[in-house]
Amino acid sequence: MFKKILIANRGEIALRIQRACREMGIKAVMVYSEADRDAKYVRLADEAVCIGPASSTHSYLNMPAIISAAEVTDAEAIHPGYGFLSENADFAERVEKSGFTFIGPTPDSIRTMGDKVSAKQAMIRAGVPCVPGSEGALPDDPVIIKRTAKAVGYPVIIKAAGGGGGRGMRVVHTEAALLHAVQTTKAEAGAAFGNPEVYMEKFLQNPRHIEIQILADQHRNAVYLGERDCSMQRRHQKVIEEAPAPGIPRRLIEKIGERCAAACKKIGYRGAGTFEFLFENGEFYFIEMNTRVQVEHPVTEWISGVDIVRTQIAVAAGEKLPFTQRQIQLRGHAIECRINAEDAYKFTPSPGRITTWHAPGGPGVRVDSHVYTNYFVPPNYDSMIGKIIVHGDTREQALARMRTALAETVIEGIKTNIPLHRELMVDASFVAGGTNIHYLEEWLSQRER
Ligand code: ADP
Repeated sequence: MFKKILIANRGEIALRIQRACREMGIKAVMVYSEADRDAKYVRLADEAVCIGPASSTHSYLNMPAIISAAEVTDAEAIHPGYGFLSENADFAERVEKSGFTFIGPTPDSIRTMGDKVSAKQAMIRAGVPCVPGSEGALPDDPVIIKRTAKAVGYPVIIKAAGGGGGRGMRVVHTEAALLHAVQTTKAEAGAAFGNPEVYMEKFLQNPRHIEIQILADQHRNAVYLGERDCSMQRRHQKVIEEAPAPGIPRRLIEKIGERCAAACKKIGYRGAGTFEFLFENGEFYFIEMNTRVQVEHPVTEWISGVDIVRTQIAVAAGEKLPFTQRQIQLRGHAIECRINAEDAYKFTPSPGRITTWHAPGGPGVRVDSHVYTNYFVPPNYDSMIGKIIVHGDTREQALARMRTALAETVIEGIKTNIPLHRELMVDASFVAGGTNIHYLEEWLSQRER
């Protein structure tokens, strides 16, 4: 096992990884930007290295500075967390070339999955169902583009191969609008992602977002840890996640989960990963794979009893998965609310000093956050300041616990989205379960009126 790991991230996930290191008897090195210098989790680390100014381009995205920090502290491995460099194949490659272990999949896996066209092709080959659409990137020939759209059936969605974060997509309803949409998306994709390639998919009207968590080791073992329902989204950003997904028969989950685990073995995947699907009319359609730990991993940890971060570290060190698929027993129901420093309904960021931080507790409540009373939320990064996760024997109990937890929470000095979560936890449709990916945006626009 590693003796020392460098954590190349910040905030709640940096603290989460640090906790796993401590539990495993591994020393943790934190890197930090000047904006995070005084944060408690930085002080708590065994060692800490400043890697640059507040701007993430010059700090958390600064590959040479991070690798030098690993060199000067004699770290053996680098955990990238999520966001920042976690899905950057070049970074993974530089980490390994410099003699460190990258806690994640191989650079090749990251590269294949980072390009949505190649990811989809790999999934089709591995037997994972995908959204019907063009086979690979769209050619320039207008006749072929029109023929493809006709075969797929309108409406279609044009998506950039290199897209991410909900950008680089355009829905097309008629043939008249098709060619122009393809041209525009190509031009935008070239400018934004440095790759003008686009592909076409059938546009699903009312899907849910269901994802499968997998874990794989370097000995071709892979398991799935059930699903998460992340349909409560605003601008393609997840707001609430839960597991299991309400109302989806277990046999459907098992079938798709087994496919995902088998695909991991087939492509030689290692580490933690998530297969994202749209789910409509009883069918799963793969949209993309995330090759890292996710924000919402705690809901799966809670229902499966598996520590995902700890397992990431263990398999990166070459250990075998400590369980087989049959040993994975899912229990109860978990819900996560992402706590953001922002106006609850206008969504404008609200950085600044937290004058009061009172976190909830009690049975079945977990809070993953790096903040505390007097913590200053810097304006330079994502507005998420933590997560409240609850578990119950049933979904009803989990909902009741989340309502209690949200009622107990006091955050003063900045605005947060706690009021939004409080409303959603008593919303009739959410409480009934199974809302689709458009529900939250529709709910918000009706609330405005
Ligand atoms: P990104 O990497 O930018 O997040 P995804 O491919 O994961 O892109 O898609 C993001 C979101 O866009 C999905 O969660 C869904 O809301 C919508 N979307 C993508 N593809 C389709 C599709 N074929 N039909 C309907 N909605 C889609």
